[in-house]
Formats: sequence, structure tokens, C-alpha cells
Amino acid sequence: MAEDVKNTTDNNDDEYEKVCSICRRPESKAGKMIQMGQGMYVCADCMQRSMDTIMKGDFNYDDMMKFTKDIPGIHFMNMADLTGEIPERQKIKKKKAGEKRVPLIDLKDIPAPHKIKEKLDEYVIGQEYAKKVISVAVYNHYKRVATDTMDSIEIEKSNMLMIGPTGSGKTYLVKTLARLLDVPLAIADATSLTEAGYIGDDIESVVSKLLAAAGNDVDKAEQGIIFIDEIDKIAKKKETHSRDVSGESVQQGMLKLLEGADIEVPVGSNSKNAMVPLVTVNTRNILFICGGAFPDLEEIIKERLNKQASIGFMADLKDKYDKEENLISKVTIEDLRKYGMIPEFLGRLPVVFTLEALTKDMLVKILKEPKNAILKQYEKLLELDEVKLEFDDDAMEAIAEKALERKTGARALRSIIEDFMLDIMYEIPKDNNIGKVTITRAYIEKTGGPLIETRTMGFLPG
Ligand code: ADP
Repeated sequence: MAEDVKNTTDNNDDEYEKVCSICRRPESKAGKMIQMGQGMYVCADCMQRSMDTIMKGDFNYDDMMKFTKDIPGIHFMNMADLTGEIPERQKIKKKKAGEKRVPLIDLKDIPAPHKIKEKLDEYVIGQEYAKKVISVAVYNHYKRVATDTMDSIEIEKSNMLMIGPTGSGKTYLVKTLARLLDVPLAIADATSLTEAGYIGDDIESVVSKLLAAAGNDVDKAEQGIIFIDEIDKIAKKKETHSRDVSGESVQQGMLKLLEGADIEVPVGSNSKNAMVPLVTVNTRNILFICGGAFPDLEEIIKERLNKQASIGFMADLKDKYDKEENLISKVTIEDLRKYGMIPEFLGRLPVVFTLEALTKDMLVKILKEPKNAILKQYEKLLELDEVKLEFDDDAMEAIAEKALERKTGARALRSIIEDFMLDIMYEIPKDNNIGKVTITRAYIEKTGGPLIETRTMGFLPG
């Protein structure tokens, strides 16, 4: 027992690195640490520097604080903090002596693209093209990670740009993928990257998030996936003469991350402030997937296609593309550049693909088919009360129609269902005689009730 307590409170245990309380470098970088008190260490460099300053005798703490307080990026630590323990989330996983980097997925264990797609099929409805592209790209990516480089030919990184309407499954696809491959995943929103004052720090915070998802294990994080959503929101504004600081500079700031660089990130925090340990994460093997809805991109594509058509002899069919379905799949890099993505940024996302808007049929399938389908979840819940829950085909269509009206893709489904299931989940357990409930279109459209059958009618749940 006493031993247990010691292990949880002492930073000296085997699994985590010690971190210098002054420069915040871990011992793998700063060398051996001198223990100053419980949970507090100082590296040899900092100790030497402190000694030098004191010996010179010209150190005045108050003057120094006054002088530096308005300088951004310079932080002075609060001496009172030094007595504290490093919180669990800020501890860095230690590498054992002589331990080599182990690929998260072994070369011979990387599932073939068709196997990855098969697995995705169990969860993600439709989006055949997207699933195929992502399976191949991920397969190539992890082959590259597992072999490090292929002899003298370095295989290009398979960072991706995913374009598709809201609620079409972009985030879901990436989440499912990361779970299937069992690699850490961080999801960030591009819009949040513009908000903070100190932009450089903030962009790097996505790597911080990944590190947290990898349990502060740098090796694991270096082979993870970072998904950056709403990437269209950092497009350069059109027709502005002043420099666009928000969008363009964030794109610029992301370049080195996408390509692969050593990034110094705070552990267990979003900002590099005084007491947070820093660790270096190399992003070379991190797979970046950017996603966005790119509203109005279709207009740009249409304009280009119309222009091409009018050069030839099809000039009379100027509005020929107006009714074209899935126009977005005809997107080119040039269209994206016109939208406001800078060429260097696009150059680092070599795999570009689109997702379709969900149709009524797809929405119905999403309701009932995936392994963790919403309807299956409710059926299971009621089964525990020994009640059989059924949905009429017509009822499912009614739900899908309602979802289509909201224009938020599959995202609307859950809230629509929760709306009417609340009453069912509340009322059913009241009456022990109920054996089966059938949800009808009338019930969804609030013109009637569900069909209730009692157990006495000979129904046996199951
Ligand atoms: P977005 O494209 O905006 O990132 P999401 O991936 O967040 O959309 O989708 C929202 C939810 O809708 C998901 O959590 C998932 O349950 C469901 N969903 C969306 N598209 C699909 C799909 N193609 N197949 C199965 N479920 C889907």
C-alpha cells in the first residue's frame, strides 16, 4: 500500500520522464536531472546558469518582472509553482534504454486496401469512392511508416483533403478508420486555429492534442492521424486588397506541419506557458486529413466547365451543368486554388477526394444497417425490458425525409429520433404487459400513435 502511494506521487517512477522545472525540457533532451524537492527537478544547464547569475550578483527579480511583463512569448514562472507535482496529463512516457521505435502497425500486419474498405463498409454507408481512396492512401501511408523509407526512393506522404457536405460522414470516416487501425487520432477545427492571438503556438496545439490521445507517448503520436475539420474556413478571402491575416497565414503556418518537421509541443496543455513541459514531436509520419464542406465550390466548378464548353461548339448549352448531380466530384486543384487555398498548402495534400450528399435511401440505410446503427441501439435498449421494438419501412422513410429538410445530413437523424423516442422510453416501462411497439409514419408525423401489442396476445419477445 505504502509502495503504491509512493508510485503515484513520485515523479521518479520508471514510466515517465523527469522534466526540468526551469527550461521544461525532459531528461531525454536535457540530460541528467538534479532533484530539488518532491516532484521538482532542474537540469545541469539551468543549474549552471542560475549559479552564474547569482555569482555575478546583478540579479534583481522585481526589475526583471517589470521589464518582461509586456513582452509576448516571455514568461516568468511563479516560484510558488515549483513546489507542485507535475500533473499526470503532463507526464511524458519514457523510452527504455536502447528501445527502438516500433511501428504501430507491422508491415506484414497492415491490412490490404480491400480489407480496410470491407471494415469501413460495416460502419459507413455509401461513399464508395471515398472509402476506396482513403483505404488505398492509408495502406500506402502505413507501408511508408513501417519501412521508414523505401531504399533511396522516399515515398510521398499521403495527406488527404476530403470535400463533402455537412453530415456526410467525413469525421465519422476518419474516426472509424483510426479505431480500426488502432492508432491515436486528434480532431481539430481549423476555425479555432485563427482565434488565438499567438497563431504559431495554436497551430501546433493540434500536435499537442494528438500527443494526449497517444497517452503522452511520443512514438505513438508520431504515427497517428490528425483530422482538421472546416478547412474551407481558412481559405483566403477573395478580392481583398489587404493581406488576409486569418486564413492565409494559418495555411502558411500549417505547411511545415503537413510536410514533416520537429515541433516542440507543450505536454497536456494548449499553450506553452511557464510550467508546462515541452517535448519534440516529429510530424513526418503523422497522417494529416483535412476536411471541409467548401460551400459555393460548385459555382467555381460550374463556371470553369461552362467556360470550357463555350470555347468549343457546345456554346449553346451554357447551363448544361446546372442540374448535374455530384458536380463536386469534378473538382480540380485549380478550382480549390480559386476558392482560396494556397498552392503550397494544396501541394502538401496530394490525395483529394469528395463525398456525396446523402440521399433519402442512404439515410434510411444509416438508420438501420451500420453495426452500431441508431435503431439497433434503441432495439437493444428495449430488449432489455423484454419489449420488441420495430420500425415500419414507411416510418424510416418519414424520419429520413425530416432529416433531409434540416440539411445537416445524417447529423439530424439522431435528434429526430430522440425526439419521439423519449415518450416511448418513458411510457413503455410503466406497463409490464406491453410486448411489442411498432413505430409508424403517423407517429413520426404526429398524426397518430405507435402500434402497441401486449404479451397476452401470444407475443414472446426475442
Ligand atoms: P461531417 O461530414 O460533417 O464530418 P459526421 O461524420 O460528423 O459529418 O457525421 C455525423 C454523424 O452522422 C456521424 O457521427 C454518423 O453517425 C452519421 N453518418 C454520417 N454519414 C454517415 C455514413 N455515410 N454512414 C453512416 N453514418 C453516417
